[in-house]
Amino acid sequence: MNAESRDQGRPQSPAESGADVQAAAADDAGDEIRPTDIVFDCPHCGHNLAIDYRGAGLQIKCVACEMPTLVPIPDGMAVTDLDLSPGELLSQLFQTRGVLNKREQQVAELSQALDSVKARRSELERSRMTTLHRYAELVNMCQSITRAQSDITVTLNRMLTLIAEEQQR
Ligand SMILES: [Zn+2]
Repeated sequence: MNAESRDQGRPQSPAESGADVQAAAADDAGDEIRPTDIVFDCPHCGHNLAIDYRGAGLQIKCVACEMPTLVPIPDGMAVTDLDLSPGELLSQLFQTRGVLNKREQQVAELSQALDSVKARRSELERSRMTTLHRYAELVNMCQSITRAQSDITVTLNRMLTLIAEEQQR
């Protein structure tokens, strides 16, 4: 690899923890990619990233676009091959992170569903208020007509009285 042509992106810490795992652009200067690194493309910008295997399943910030990005957990990652004594523990940790990530995704989906239910509910409430207002308006109109009707009756009676008086002269 040619160090001169590499870009300036510096490694960044994982977004959620103070872990000593760092993500780097795979073509970044200075950091040689070790065989144990996880190399993957940012799902947002496609930038090629490399991260220490201990970052498997962690959420990191992409060095190129700075979007939160999930480090993939390699299938059948041979943890014992990595010259680590607590390999089983680490393998369990990766599995737990994988499950956790799925659960977090489910929580996000559920909260999205909840939001849309809430939005629908307030929409229904608004339309119910509109209906109630219209009913009130109709009741007012009916009352106006009733009042006008009784005015007409009073006037008609008055006219009939006047006519009767004229007839008796
Ligand atoms: Zn990116």
